[in-house]
Amino acid sequence: MGIQQEVQDLLLRLGVNAGTLAGGALPVQSPITGEIIANLQPTTAAAEAIAEAHEAFLAWRTVPAPKRGELIRQFGEDLRAERETLGRLVTLEAGKILSEGVGEVQEMIDICTFAAGLSRQLTGLTLPSERPRHRMMETWHPLGVTGVISAFNFPVAVWSWNAALALVCGNSVVWKPSEKTPLTALATQAMFERTAAKVGGVPAKLSTVLVGDAAIGQALVDSPLVPIVSATGSTAMGRAVSPRLAQRFARAILELGGNNAAIVCPSADIEIALRGVAFAAMGTAGQRCTTLRRLIVHDTIYDEFVWRLQRVFGSVRVGDPRDTGTLVGPLIDGRAFATMQRALAEARAEGATIHGGERIERSAWPEAFYVRPALVEMKEQSELVRRETFAPILYVLRYKTLDEAIVLHNAVPQGLSSSIFTNDMREAERFLSTEGSDCGIANVNIGTSGAEIGGAFGGEKETGGGRESGSDAWKQYMRRATNTINYGSDLPLAQGVVFEIG
Ligand code: NAD
Repeated sequence: MGIQQEVQDLLLRLGVNAGTLAGGALPVQSPITGEIIANLQPTTAAAEAIAEAHEAFLAWRTVPAPKRGELIRQFGEDLRAERETLGRLVTLEAGKILSEGVGEVQEMIDICTFAAGLSRQLTGLTLPSERPRHRMMETWHPLGVTGVISAFNFPVAVWSWNAALALVCGNSVVWKPSEKTPLTALATQAMFERTAAKVGGVPAKLSTVLVGDAAIGQALVDSPLVPIVSATGSTAMGRAVSPRLAQRFARAILELGGNNAAIVCPSADIEIALRGVAFAAMGTAGQRCTTLRRLIVHDTIYDEFVWRLQRVFGSVRVGDPRDTGTLVGPLIDGRAFATMQRALAEARAEGATIHGGERIERSAWPEAFYVRPALVEMKEQSELVRRETFAPILYVLRYKTLDEAIVLHNAVPQGLSSSIFTNDMREAERFLSTEGSDCGIANVNIGTSGAEIGGAFGGEKETGGGRESGSDAWKQYMRRATNTINYGSDLPLAQGVVFEIG
């Protein structure tokens, strides 16, 4: 069966109307074969959709939070029933290997479980008042329409991290998925609508998808009816979006580019380090925000470690992500390939030693871009290394002292994920301490990618400072009110202020 037919069958099964898939001005390409698999009609009435989402919010905020949680619980169950179907669609549209496609849907299921529990735990503090017979407490209230802008590389999970929390918190959600991966978004939306109809009592347009490019995203960013936008994508996108949100004092959750590093110490368990580095650097064909891009290896183990890694990079199976045994699928498109080749040419000009990085031609699919992941031994951490190139390139650097390694590690503009491979407790603790990694995620003896939903996810510096998913990330989707109640028969003022009106 052709890929276009398979995509259509999966979409129909998940409830997407076939009529929406053809005749529009937005072509969707599968990175697996380079074929156009749909032509969608971009959204033209973004303002109306946002206004409807606002109406939905006004109704939804009055539904008790545990009832809101029940919607998300059931949505999680429906996702579980179609895990393989939606996972396969992720593979066909985004090009990740099947276990990663299905893993992405598992992440959606997990966040639904988390959010359903959370719906009974949106707790506020009770605080001691300095005034007699007064009670002070915090209450949490929904904010309104939550805008979600997402990137191509996690076409559905990022929405779910935001949406599951935003919805149990009492908000409505308007989603602008990547223009490169709108089909999985339409499928998710269709599934959500089905669950909502089954559960009942859910206002229409509680969740909406806007199909289109950056211009539609901008409409969401600029709408006064959208008090919070969670935007995932490149740092360039964050630079465009952030000041516009700040201008109107809207909340921003920014999840932007990473330039993640791992330090491999002499005491490391080399087998664990090899596997951890291999998955983090080559998984999702190097197209995760948390992909390992810089490897800092101790001088005494450098030669052996890099030689072994070179063999892994050289032998890993690159190809059709639908095939069992493939570990590295295609790049998203020709532009990504050109960017990768430019970076490799720059590295070559800087005197780097490059292993791999070449295109693996598939004569039947001239518009698909498969590459062997590149291992690039650099002389120094140049400007090139300090930049995020969204492709499977791992730059390798040497170090002699841990101090030197930590300085190198932190000397980049991004601050998303980091790790150290060591069995020396002092080195591990130092890396996690205030003097260590400056990233939002810091790991020991695991790679930089593959975070669990239970923790807060996000990074510092040019990664944008946002946190989403687990821990107390839910607080961002709500406003906090501090309430003080006087149950006495007097009116004492705080700080002992006297104001007698006679
Ligand atoms: P991108 O920046 O090209 O696009 C991301 C999204 O932003 C798309 O939906 C796009 O249409 C939208 N967009 C772009 N400019 C906009 C604007 N001015 N106003 C409103 N919306 C706009 O990114 P991409 O190529 O899809 O994804 C790769 C990038 O995303 C990498 O830099 C990667 O590190 C980053 N990323 C970060 C995280 C994270 O959690 N930190 C997660 C995934 C991806």
